[in-house]
Amino acid sequence: MSLNTADPQVVKTEYKAMLGEGPVWDDHEQQLYWVDILNGMLMIHDPERNENYRYDIGEHIGAAALRKKGGLVLALKSGFAFFNIGEQKVNPIADPEAGLNGNRFNDGKCDPAGRFWAGTMAYNLQQGAGSLYSLDPDQDVEVKITGVTISNGMAWNTDDNIFYFIDTPERTVYAFDYEEERGDISNRRIIKEFSRADGFPDGMTIDTGNKLWIALYNGRKVIRIDPVSGKTLFEIPLPVPKVTSCTFGGADFDELYITTARENMSKDEIKEAPMSGSLFKAKIPFKGKPAFRFAG
Ligand code: CA
Repeated sequence: MSLNTADPQVVKTEYKAMLGEGPVWDDHEQQLYWVDILNGMLMIHDPERNENYRYDIGEHIGAAALRKKGGLVLALKSGFAFFNIGEQKVNPIADPEAGLNGNRFNDGKCDPAGRFWAGTMAYNLQQGAGSLYSLDPDQDVEVKITGVTISNGMAWNTDDNIFYFIDTPERTVYAFDYEEERGDISNRRIIKEFSRADGFPDGMTIDTGNKLWIALYNGRKVIRIDPVSGKTLFEIPLPVPKVTSCTFGGADFDELYITTARENMSKDEIKEAPMSGSLFKAKIPFKGKPAFRFAG
């Protein structure tokens, strides 16, 4: 039996990222933010006007999230920071890993209560060297998980009582009980383990039916899985191997924006997959919901 699938289209941004990541749809401005971690770039894609903007942040940028009061909160090599698009100014907030020069921030996302969660990893991929942090609206930082190798995809269910989290080299998707008011997580369990042939689970989002959409790095696709049964329900094949993350966007939240990478690829591999690093978009018969915004 074949799975239901959708055909992704490449989005014309004239930019191929080394490590495209962190797509987040701004439902107020109807535009997409995404980042190129290793080139330190923040990108905006405006599909309505068919315009693209690029901001050189000047250091590795793991993730960007929207603020309720406008502008962005970033997870940078140097820690958490605010970014104002108009002034193009980075304002540092806090660096929970100051002195840990071998680490950088990776994926990040806001929770239902408006905290910004972002995790770290070692450049040399040392096992367990990373942590997952949350930045509260009052700018206090809490450690949520330690011993993470590559802190990656995050999602919260529609009842705001389950948190999903990916540690990529473990090839594992975890679920935790989540308590919104304090932001506590507990009762970690495994909901999905991928095989070597699947590739590595990377970025993740969730739809209104509480099914997870997971980008498979070196897996050439995004899949929709049931977090209860672990079964794959839908897949989007990509013409490139390194599929890094995805998020819902568009006026009706029925388009999936997908980021990809071209890092660590040989000339022959790039020749076989020349669109590596591009942004893709697929119209799908499922819907997402607006991204949570940072409340500080
Ligand atoms: Ca990632």
